[in-house]
Amino acid sequence: MDDRFLADTFDQIGISLTNDQIHMFDTYYDMIVEKNKVMNLTKITDYHEAVIKHFVDSCSLVLLDDDIYIKKRFTDGASVIDVGTGAGFPGIPLKIIFPQIRLTLLDSVNKKLDFLRDVSSELGFTDINIIHGRAEDISHQKGIRESFDFCVSRAVGNLAVLSEYCLPFVKKNGFFISYKSERADDELKQSAHAFSELRGKLIQEAFFDLPESDISRTLLLIMKTGNTPKIYPRKAGTPSKNPL
Ligand code: SAM
Repeated sequence: MDDRFLADTFDQIGISLTNDQIHMFDTYYDMIVEKNKVMNLTKITDYHEAVIKHFVDSCSLVLLDDDIYIKKRFTDGASVIDVGTGAGFPGIPLKIIFPQIRLTLLDSVNKKLDFLRDVSSELGFTDINIIHGRAEDISHQKGIRESFDFCVSRAVGNLAVLSEYCLPFVKKNGFFISYKSERADDELKQSAHAFSELRGKLIQEAFFDLPESDISRTLLLIMKTGNTPKIYPRKAGTPSKNPL
């Protein structure tokens, strides 16, 4: 563990970590490495790499142009759903940095969610809502559909598919933030129909390099402009087999 490196790397995206937050990231890292011995959570287990590619990357939405607005919404307790959270990215790092958010973690693999239940309890978070299921089924549920201020998702699918998973969760005038590892120009072109069907509008495409590396990332900020028609998402499996 290298707490100086952790704090310095977060500093480079304008986040100054408290000692408590450093301790939480270290605990989370230890738990990932331990659990990774018995189940496949992540390929990244080197500490420095995990800090850059998991922890800082997850919090990189503070680099969006609307950062002041987003930070204010987050510190005011916005509701945020992380779709296809896996080992908790980007949801858990965002909760460490913005403990006020009302966070929901969704994944279709319950074993990963058992891990996240342990992480939540170890980090002292009593208000994280953990849901097991497929996005296509869960977003049709009353009380969940179009109830979130933000939906975030990283490494779950291409943009057209992901939009069908994510936009139905978002309230009108809320945002879907998609974390992409590369430039998303082609995916954006292919998603024009999906955006118009699902009522999404691209507000910003942000490119940046992760600190302490030459790894590029793209963040897409997509606004929900109206209610998604009830036929979306289509039945589980259809969005990925036959993207809009
Ligand atoms: N977001 C994490 C990250 O960035 O490390 C995990 C990415 S992992 C490659 C994709 C995750 O999405 C897996 O945990 C998988 O179970 C979940 N997933 C894929 N399709 C899903 C769906 N339709 N509904 C819910 N979860 C899904």
